[in-house]
Amino acid sequence: MINKPLLKPKSNNFITKDINNDIKNYDHDNLINFNNYNNNNNYANYLSVAKFWSLNDVRYMRAALALAQLGATNDEVPVGAVLVHNDKIIGEGFNKPISTCDPTSHAEIAALRSACISLQNYRLPENTTLYVTLEPCTMCLGALIHARLSRLVFATHEPRAGVVGSQLNLLEKGFYNHKIDVNNGLLKSHSQQILKSFFRNKRNQKNKNSY
Ligand SMILES: [Zn+2]
Repeated sequence: MINKPLLKPKSNNFITKDINNDIKNYDHDNLINFNNYNNNNNYANYLSVAKFWSLNDVRYMRAALALAQLGATNDEVPVGAVLVHNDKIIGEGFNKPISTCDPTSHAEIAALRSACISLQNYRLPENTTLYVTLEPCTMCLGALIHARLSRLVFATHEPRAGVVGSQLNLLEKGFYNHKIDVNNGLLKSHSQQILKSFFRNKRNQKNKNSY
């Protein structure tokens, strides 16, 4: 049974001081597309973000974005998610309700299922973080609470149906017996870009077909 490894407090790998050195030494392929940061303004933005997020945060959100993109190539609304424990991905998934004929097949649920099956446990280990490219819906937030997720990081808000700040902030209601730490805004524009281009392509296809 995997009910063991409780994490030590998060290691201090934040880019606070010697940021240029950190960036220079980092594997850029796994971090960020620096072409997007090729002017001073954008670079300044990047630095302000990087001071807040850890390099691992950025790395795992990049992984979630890659999964979202995979969803788009499968003609599903592009949302991706990875679950991380002990600096290791323990579950991942992307949104695919259409291809699976399964309304519950959201990225978060897919990531939970893959982690829980491989861990053979209906709950996640303590100090597990979920990186997801879009704010969770009611169903997914409920599942994350049931799974005892410790920390949720999402890239961008879902103004129509998000319940972690947009339409509601369910976690602040106080009737759940579990608390999840939440951070948002990491690689927000990347996620928005993937969603926008997906819906733009959809509209273009539709217009083409209507002629
Ligand atoms: Zn959902």
